[in-house]
Amino acid sequence: MSEYDVVVVAGGGPAGLQFARELGRRTDHSVVVLEANERLADNDKSTGGTFEQVVDGFDVADDVVMGASEDVVFEGPTASVRLPISNSVLDFSAFLEFLGEDAEADGVGVHTGTRVTGPLLDDGRVVGVRTRDDETYRADLVVDGTGPDGTLTSALGMWNRDAAQRGIGKEFEVEGRYEEDAMLFAFDHDVAPGGYAWVFPAGDGVFKAGVCWVDDFHARRRTDHTIDDYVRDWLDADPRWTVESIRAGHAGEVRSDNSVNQRAADGLLAVGDSVSSINPLFGEGIRPAMESARMAADTAIEALLAGDTSRRRLAAYERRWNREKGSKWKTQRVVGELLYDFDAGQQDAFVERTGRLSDAAADRLQRYDLSVRDLLSLYPYRRRDLRKVPTLLRHAW
Ligand SMILES: Cc1cc2nc3c(=O)[nH]c(=O)nc-3n(C[C@H](O)[C@H](O)[C@H](O)COP(=O)(O)OP(=O)(O)OC[C@H]3O[C@@H](n4cnc5c(N)ncnc54)[C@H](O)[C@@H]3O)c2cc1C
Repeated sequence: MSEYDVVVVAGGGPAGLQFARELGRRTDHSVVVLEANERLADNDKSTGGTFEQVVDGFDVADDVVMGASEDVVFEGPTASVRLPISNSVLDFSAFLEFLGEDAEADGVGVHTGTRVTGPLLDDGRVVGVRTRDDETYRADLVVDGTGPDGTLTSALGMWNRDAAQRGIGKEFEVEGRYEEDAMLFAFDHDVAPGGYAWVFPAGDGVFKAGVCWVDDFHARRRTDHTIDDYVRDWLDADPRWTVESIRAGHAGEVRSDNSVNQRAADGLLAVGDSVSSINPLFGEGIRPAMESARMAADTAIEALLAGDTSRRRLAAYERRWNREKGSKWKTQRVVGELLYDFDAGQQDAFVERTGRLSDAAADRLQRYDLSVRDLLSLYPYRRRDLRKVPTLLRHAW
């Protein structure tokens, strides 16, 4: 091993923990994760809906998977289609604990209750972090996995979280009856103005139902209701489900942009939502967080071995992300700009068109691999959309 062997990861979410897990499993480096919360499980914002690429691709333990189904249902105000897309729902808190324990079993140190306040710099290079308790951790490589807080990426001017689009989500975990054996998404401004509502099956007699919206689009559909009201109305509204009890509530914000951002600096890599890896079209963030962590780990392992954690070397990860994900995320952000601003007729037409996708195209939809041609086939164009062109062009570049 080279003399470069100390790695500090700020943030114990899916991205930071998966990065630590990769290094723990694949190297003998000394890796420590610093998590602000007292327990990893306290980060419980997410509904945990995900796909086989996470459950199988990252060896997720069966006991953190609450439920699974073979289909995804898309609904508009009146239209409904069923797509053959298998999916799973994680117990998000248990998932984080699993990732942490798995990393610890490979020698990673997980320090909870430790808030990172900023980078430690030497001649412009990141050489460690400072914590709220005035401790310093020196490292050959620092990783920002602090999610939308972007504690280090913001301090270093790598990512402008305030310029990113903000969305919020609220979900209840419910004991009761849910008849659809599928992950359901509803694009309907009456249930989720400027966003979408969802119901995910989460095991026997349990389901999760929530609402999210993007502030920009929600603001165009002014309403006096809070997001909490919308989730409760959504739970009351539909005979396909009944509520016996609400056993938990989860909520949080997301910040997303084109995802083509600076991901490497001298001595530092950024993973997950600390640099907006979340998919900007549907707000799916666990899979991209894990994928960004693995890509970053591939680069980090080579860089540490070579004793060179300069930006020049670490930028291989940034280029790979942009090539494999960022360029697609950029196109999908443009699609999201249209989707969440559709009128009711367009929402129905969009849903009907997704129902015409071949099985292969539905698989591409699940992988965010749709071609521009596929995307155009889903787009229910209206003349008035022309006024959106300047905004769309701004996102495209
Ligand atoms: C309501 C809601 C529902 C969602 N549902 C889904 C879903 O069903 N499926 C899906 O794929 N995605 C979903 N997402 C998105 C997904 O949860 C995130 O994209 C994903 O968790 C990002 O992982 P991350 O590790 O980058 O960041 P995070 O999960 O945000 O983790 C960051 C961690 O860093 C810690 N931290 C922050 N600042 C500091 C600091 N200064 N020092 C130390 N630690 C710090 C935080 O406490 C946190 O534990 C949802 C999001 C919300 C808000």
